[in-house]
Amino acid sequence: MLKTPAWAAPSATEPLAPFAIERREPGPHEVLIDIRYCGVCHSDIHQARDDWGGSIFPMVPGHEIVGTVVKVGNQVERWKEGDTVGVGCFVDSCRHCEACLDGEEQFCSEGMSVTYNGYERTDGKLDKSRPTWGGYSTRITVDENYVLRVPEGIPLDRAAPLLCAGITTYSPLRRYDVGKDDKVAVVGLGGLGHMGVKLAKAMGAHVTVLSHSPGKRDSALALGADDFLSTRDEDVFAQHAGRFDFILDTVSAAHDYNAYLGLLRRDGTMVLVGLPEPQALSAGSLIRGRKRLTGSLIGGIRETQEMLDFCAEHGVAADVEVIGIEQINEAYERMLRGDVRYRFVIDNDSLREPEAA
Ligand code: NAP
Ligand code: ZN
Ligand code: ZN
Repeated sequence: MLKTPAWAAPSATEPLAPFAIERREPGPHEVLIDIRYCGVCHSDIHQARDDWGGSIFPMVPGHEIVGTVVKVGNQVERWKEGDTVGVGCFVDSCRHCEACLDGEEQFCSEGMSVTYNGYERTDGKLDKSRPTWGGYSTRITVDENYVLRVPEGIPLDRAAPLLCAGITTYSPLRRYDVGKDDKVAVVGLGGLGHMGVKLAKAMGAHVTVLSHSPGKRDSALALGADDFLSTRDEDVFAQHAGRFDFILDTVSAAHDYNAYLGLLRRDGTMVLVGLPEPQALSAGSLIRGRKRLTGSLIGGIRETQEMLDFCAEHGVAADVEVIGIEQINEAYERMLRGDVRYRFVIDNDSLREPEAA
């Protein structure tokens, strides 16, 4: 086993602190990755604070991982030492259910092995004696089929957030065929939201940001948004009723879905990707105008690779603030206050022991 420095949440109520984990030597079909950067997703906060229940502690969060392959198992065909790769929200799945066979591993009927706050598999089955540890650590051992290629040309720190924020916004935009001149609204301009703006623009849409932070107007327009509406202004919902073909809702906190559905045109679609506590939904919000409300969960391996290649081709990358791991607890507080433009990314060198002279 490889003793590996990490940071963990000891419980739902304590700050993250240094923690040592063990990574395994790569098996025949596995690779060992030195982690260079790891993005900080709002889901890390939800899980470290047990907002969704069932969290497993101690927890080493982190599922926006990029790094370098440093060792490969003897039967690995896809990767070699020195390759620049990514690991997203899951590291394994059953591989034989309908979802897995469709390349939609995130919906594995036996449950995916999430990158942290979940379990590795033994003989294909989730093994409760083997918790997964995420990217707030210096290395990770992963099956070769659950690793992504990070294309050249995307700076690595700016590539990390694509592994969750990127795919989570790319997937629904593609599924609902968002394209040229579609009127798209992105609700919530955080890590996911800012990727939604960039990706929808790259697909040719006319993009409006709906934000509860009026101070984000200039930077939203600088990101490429065509318009910005402050939802603090209650008139916005009446003035812009029926305006949008598609709404991507990335908000992490409770808000009124019915109000946003009112902004959709007839037969328009609103996709929820933000995961706040349960909210009331009125049937009338959907019935009047035959509107569609749906949700979306990250994306499968094949689509995640497609997204990374799309980003390289279109010059899309996350806007990041790089931090050392010792700033992680402050970064969580700042994210909760909406004070990040637009993704914190950990420089994982800050977790490594200084080299002996
Ligand atoms: P984030 O960077 O913290 O952004 C969330 C944004 O929500 C904020 O920037 C803010 O935007 C808005 N917001 C926050 N509090 C609000 C409030 N009280 N009222 C209205 N708007 C508020 O978080 P993130 O990493 O993008 O994640 C967003 C959500 O998506 C989280 O719930 C996360 O767990 C979830 N998620 C889902 C998936 C999936 O597969 N479905 C994947 C990753 C993350 P404004 O300041 O512009 O209003
Ligand atoms: Zn995430
Ligand atoms: Zn499966």
